[in-house]
Amino acid sequence: MKEKTPHDDLRELYQDLILDHGKHPRNFRPMPEANREVLGHNPLCGDRLVLTLAVNENNVIEDAAFQGSGCAISMASASMMTEMLKGKTAAEAHKLFEHFHELCTLGGEEVAKTETPAAKDVQMRLQALSGVRHYPMRVKCAVLPWRALESALSSGGVKNVKTE
Ligand code: ZN
Repeated sequence: MKEKTPHDDLRELYQDLILDHGKHPRNFRPMPEANREVLGHNPLCGDRLVLTLAVNENNVIEDAAFQGSGCAISMASASMMTEMLKGKTAAEAHKLFEHFHELCTLGGEEVAKTETPAAKDVQMRLQALSGVRHYPMRVKCAVLPWRALESALSSGGVKNVKTE
């Protein structure tokens, strides 16, 4: 048997986090009081989810939820994202997306050098999700809820987005 490195432990921890959120997604519920709603669709994988947000007059996200179906990665990503969003301003949410996108596209060493705009637990979740960068097909699954978020924050109403 190969000896475990600290890196393997970290990887397992990340996998556990994704599996847990994929199987038991948080904020998976309808939101009647939502004032933003975006359908995200990833035809390559078949992920289809509706992101709903309640954004107040100060552009603060008061509530975030989603519904739909998709692979474990897209569900986990939506679950973790909606958890992170509550209480964030639209600008802060956008920064998180940019950072996450960077994590997904950069190599590990570069990622370590990027600035962290987030609290430690948020950072850990983003790091876990960004493990998909090793699987280019899965990046679209992980980014799907975030694309829906970007669209929801930039438009005022109902919209559809596709990750292709
Ligand atoms: Zn997927």
